[in-house]
Amino acid sequence: MNSMSYLVLARKYRPQNFDQVVGQKHVVRTLKNAISQGRLAHALLFSGIRGVGKTTIARILAKALNCEQGPTPEPCNECSACKEITEGRAVDVQEIDAASNRGIDEIRELRENVKFRPARFRYKVYIIDEAHMLTREAFNALLKTLEEPPPHVHFILATTEPQKIPVTILSRCQRYEFRRLPWMELVEHLEDVSRKEGVQIEKEVLEIIAREAEGSVRDALSLLDQAISSGVKTRQELLDLFGLTDQLLLEETARAILKRDMASCFTLVQKAFEQGLDLVHFAQDLTEFFRNLLVLKSSSGKVFLDMPESELAALRALSLEAETEELLLLFQTLLSAVENIRRSPLPRLSLELTLAKACEVGKVIPLEKLFAKLEDLKKASAWQNEAAKSSEAPSKSPPRDLSWDAFVRKVKEASPPLGALLETLASPEEKDGTLFLKIPEGSLLEDKTYRQKLAALVSEHLGKGLEVETFSSTNPSPLRQKLIEKPVVQEVLKIFGGRIAQVKPYEGE
Ligand SMILES: [Zn+2]
Repeated sequence: MNSMSYLVLARKYRPQNFDQVVGQKHVVRTLKNAISQGRLAHALLFSGIRGVGKTTIARILAKALNCEQGPTPEPCNECSACKEITEGRAVDVQEIDAASNRGIDEIRELRENVKFRPARFRYKVYIIDEAHMLTREAFNALLKTLEEPPPHVHFILATTEPQKIPVTILSRCQRYEFRRLPWMELVEHLEDVSRKEGVQIEKEVLEIIAREAEGSVRDALSLLDQAISSGVKTRQELLDLFGLTDQLLLEETARAILKRDMASCFTLVQKAFEQGLDLVHFAQDLTEFFRNLLVLKSSSGKVFLDMPESELAALRALSLEAETEELLLLFQTLLSAVENIRRSPLPRLSLELTLAKACEVGKVIPLEKLFAKLEDLKKASAWQNEAAKSSEAPSKSPPRDLSWDAFVRKVKEASPPLGALLETLASPEEKDGTLFLKIPEGSLLEDKTYRQKLAALVSEHLGKGLEVETFSSTNPSPLRQKLIEKPVVQEVLKIFGGRIAQVKPYEGE
């Protein structure tokens, strides 16, 4: 293998007919039926992440429509129409990259030309890549054409961000959602390609590549390209090549956090640093690790995690050592820290601080118990003693003259995690005897049960009402956005009904 092989695999193994497409079975089936029945819509929208086959399928579709043996769901790939399309030199099949110049000239030209019959083929096919990048003017021009598409024209809009396409355009397109490839299917595809290439490479290497590709076939093949051209054969060589985190290092770190073993955490960060790992990447991986632990724990291991059995076994074992709420709090702590680590001029120290904090989260007792413990305070705490000085009546004590900060300190004494949670929030504003507490979206306190309990505590100890307002961070940073878009985070949001805060109240031991 020489360096020329870089990025070649994706091109070399690009599917030339529908049956060669990896994944996207639902899309392929529908398109094949539409072609067979002569009912293909004139405007199609292909949406999905990069590298899952949108343009590839668009080109196959162009061949299916124009093959000399067709229209047919099985283009021959032999006739001149098929060949020209494959080679990208067919005059009647135009690819417009909206990202490069936002398409103004092309769309204007398209509007002029669209009314003419195809030069040589049955159909003119316009493939508009990154369609969401078109300017408003280009969209308007396109809309006029889509309103009354000539019978000899098909438009295929491909996009990674369908939400940026105007509704007026969307409503005229038939939509096809391309999915991320499941991890296992990617592994199989990589095995297939390596076999065809005659390359000896450990299966574990392919498994890691498939995980890093996060469902994108193109990313997976380009990583495989790099691995092959660098002569990678073993797992360790791959980890070194890409600066990836070793799963064992993640496990060790997670175990250290769960044991509140701060010293080990520092040692492990040192190790990661010496191995030359990207520490932001490491923090992301660790966050994902705790997310997986949480998913396993909260579903009693019933949720399907698409990963190697060896990793799964380790996760299962670790998940037994922790409480659900503890994992939730750690997941939350790490997720919100990733951004800080990325921005920090001293990422290593920032990572160390994060892990130290994670250890401090304390052996979390389920929140239900925390609140119960706090309620016991009124019998024994300093608050009670203070009250006793001024009043003979031991029960039904009047509201104390505590400040919010003092209240949080008291809460923290009784329950470090809950106190720590309150400490991360700005002091509430008071108006007409009611405290207005702002909490970020996704906070544990978003849960109604916990909110009510907190309100009851505030009322009891501060003699004031409590209103909790949720706020969302308005301008999510690119990294945060990227993290949110990660399939695992999407998954967890789905599992918890769109918001992390919806945790079931703890029941029993
Ligand atoms: Zn053909």
